[in-house]
Amino acid sequence: MKLLEERIRREGTVIGDDVLKVDMFLNHQLDVGLIDEMGKAFYEAFQTDGVTKILTVEASGIALAALTARYFGVPVVFAKKAGHRNVGTDLYTATCHSFTHGTDSTICVSRRYLHEDDVILIIDDFLADGNACNALRKLISDAGAKLAGIGIGIEKGFQPGGAKLRAEGIKVRSLAIVESMKNGNIVFRSDDAER
Ligand code: 5GP
Repeated sequence: MKLLEERIRREGTVIGDDVLKVDMFLNHQLDVGLIDEMGKAFYEAFQTDGVTKILTVEASGIALAALTARYFGVPVVFAKKAGHRNVGTDLYTATCHSFTHGTDSTICVSRRYLHEDDVILIIDDFLADGNACNALRKLISDAGAKLAGIGIGIEKGFQPGGAKLRAEGIKVRSLAIVESMKNGNIVFRSDDAER
């Protein structure tokens, strides 16, 4: 998605060789117009897949998931990170390793919001090693629901998550794929390559 790539190029900052900061439009301040366009692109990619619900993880996936859900006309469920006493006890849970924090945490969703007859689209802001997506997939499979696919804002193609998920036959659509960001120089995967 050219619009997103341009924003990343213009405003993204690279930390070390593998962390991209996009706080000015996606992760802290939100450019709702841009995020709405991203939601529309996910709708175009998954509109024929029978999606009944969108699943993401708090907090950074929520805005993107919510604006995507407007196009599908379905609810968003966001997995909560452990320590939420008000979620209740009737939960689906999964362990998730955080790429940005380097720690393991438990994520959970109330059993009330994921059902056997649901067809779920996972949405997240970033895909790196695939841990967040795999934890969300566990919640879906524990609920007996079906995975429609995975929509990602920014995939870091030099990390293995996307390739592994695609190798499993999962439909993964990333709106921008960063091929490398060595020395702060951001290179995107070309448009005709797989995404
Ligand atoms: P994964 O679980 O695929 O290793 O990493 C994806 C999760 O980690 C996303 O939910 C995202 O919040 C966070 N993440 C991974 N890499 C980056 C990055 O380069 N920048 C930012 N802002 N978040 C990242």
